[in-house]
Amino acid sequence: MRSRPLTGEWGGRRVTRDRGGPGDPAATPGGTVAANPRNGRPYRRLCALVKAQRQPCWICGHDIDPGLDARHPMSWTLDHAVPLSRGGSLLDPANARSAHRRCNSARGNRLTIRQPRASRRW
Ligand SMILES: [Zn+2]
Repeated sequence: MRSRPLTGEWGGRRVTRDRGGPGDPAATPGGTVAANPRNGRPYRRLCALVKAQRQPCWICGHDIDPGLDARHPMSWTLDHAVPLSRGGSLLDPANARSAHRRCNSARGNRLTIRQPRASRRW
């Protein structure tokens, strides 16, 4: 059956086969970001960049110990000055902030940033 061992494959045809698929499953044709961009390499790079700056928590103002375990409530997390839900850029360093995990999640639960629909109950 296989009378020609290698010569057939090196004829140059098998290359075209690789170009048929969508390639990167994380990228959608419209250019919009896929389901979970936080898994992406650019996001991790941004995390490393911001963390290396050793900035204090932008919410409470205290220092963050970079050596803490990621599950520790006072460990370092990447937060965003403008939430993604409000059009903030996930990967923009100017929008990235250092925050304690605890502060970050606390802010996520109740919005400290003014709410557009809030009635005057300040
Ligand atoms: Zn904090």
